Amino acid sequence: MKSYHALIIGGGGTGGALAHDLALRGLKVTLVERGEVTSGTTGRHHGLLHSGGRYAVKDKESAVECIEENLILRKVMPGTFEENDGLFVAITEEDVEYSRLFIEGCTDCGIPTHQLTREQALAIEPNLSPNLILAVQIPDATMDAMRMALRFFATAKHNGAEFKTYTEVLDVEKTGGTVTGVRVVDHRSGKESVINADIVINAAGPWSGKVADMVGVEVPIRPSPGVMLALEGRLCNMVINRMTPSGDGDIVVPQRGLSVIGTSSWVVDDPDNLGLPSDHIEKMYAEGEKMIPAVRKAPFRAAWSAARPLIGPRGADTGRELSRTFKCFDHVDEGVEGFVTITGGKATTARGMAEATANVVCQKLGVDAPCRTREVVMLPHTAYFTG
Ligand SMILES: Cc1cc2nc3c(=O)[nH]c(=O)nc-3n(C[C@H](O)[C@H](O)[C@H](O)COP(=O)(O)OP(=O)(O)OC[C@H]3O[C@@H](n4cnc5c(N)ncnc54)[C@H](O)[C@@H]3O)c2cc1C
Repeated sequence: MKSYHALIIGGGGTGGALAHDLALRGLKVTLVERGEVTSGTTGRHHGLLHSGGRYAVKDKESAVECIEENLILRKVMPGTFEENDGLFVAITEEDVEYSRLFIEGCTDCGIPTHQLTREQALAIEPNLSPNLILAVQIPDATMDAMRMALRFFATAKHNGAEFKTYTEVLDVEKTGGTVTGVRVVDHRSGKESVINADIVINAAGPWSGKVADMVGVEVPIRPSPGVMLALEGRLCNMVINRMTPSGDGDIVVPQRGLSVIGTSSWVVDDPDNLGLPSDHIEKMYAEGEKMIPAVRKAPFRAAWSAARPLIGPRGADTGRELSRTFKCFDHVDEGVEGFVTITGGKATTARGMAEATANVVCQKLGVDAPCRTREVVMLPHTAYFTG
């Protein structure tokens, strides 16, 4: 079989998962990342392995993707997750009303639920609000955002993929309507060079619109930042979600010895210019303390923002209304051959996004190799540095 060369732009979880999938299918893989791997949104998210519960009422496509990948990743990345489950907590009568829609939505999407009384929930999570009325347990889990993604990178590297970090794509090379490679700058040496490839894949997350502009194709990406607040002390052991439609400060994720509250949502044009609005940080305290009153008094550790790569029209307002699903674009429809974009989705769905994209890539190149990432157990994250 001819060995085709695939070049991936972007070293987040999506690019890493794609490198893993394509390397297993026998392709020569090069990934270029302008910073360190996971230095984009991937290294800055909550660290929640979604059960899909958050999306089960209004965004069922994404909810189904999350629960499917949640179950696969537990098998192929043993030891990565704190399998602590999550609770959706109702603290007002309105929340209780929503819990009926929530359980119905979860059932439709194949997400198991277990309803707990106020007393049962307080027995396992004593810091929950005394206003608690009921809680519903779902299979959320906690992860270290960087280490989870590094398992894709480690395994891909072991299978021959090459990672060029601090290497930024400045332009995409084309002959006629066909993409033939990329022009990059190595930020360590300052040297520019061209890397040729049989196919180029844009996995630049919230930057994927900027990369698409280099080729002259359209990717309807809306970079949508959110603010997160880390407090010292583990205020809960399970992931605590508010029993409401998605909103600001509706989740508290226990991370090692910290509690991370998130998040808000707005849209920006430039993912390199997010800002950190102070009123959003205050909102995290205000909403978080409704679920766990100890939030207000816990010592501050850090606050930061990161941008979701959401797919949606330019008119989108806050990003809340946009689906969390993903999409793979084959730009052949726009008259460009040899260039594919994968964007949208969640860290939780990176493997599934990679499978869908690798199917498109292999079909375009005429490579007949099935996806193996549902079964192959990945190397530990440390193998990225030692392997
Ligand atoms: C506030 C917030 C909380 C979230 N919480 C969760 C959560 O708990 N669980 C979950 O599953 N998901 C969560 N998400 C979503 C998740 O973080 C993202 O969907 C995911 O990390 C996107 O990964 P990616 O690889 O597509 O993008 P990125 O991680 O952003 O990777 C893209 C990479 O491309 C690189 N790049 C850009 N331009 C170039 C160029 N020209 N040349 C070379 N490299 C380039 C960037 O440096 C970057 O590293 C959250 C998102 C946000 C914003």
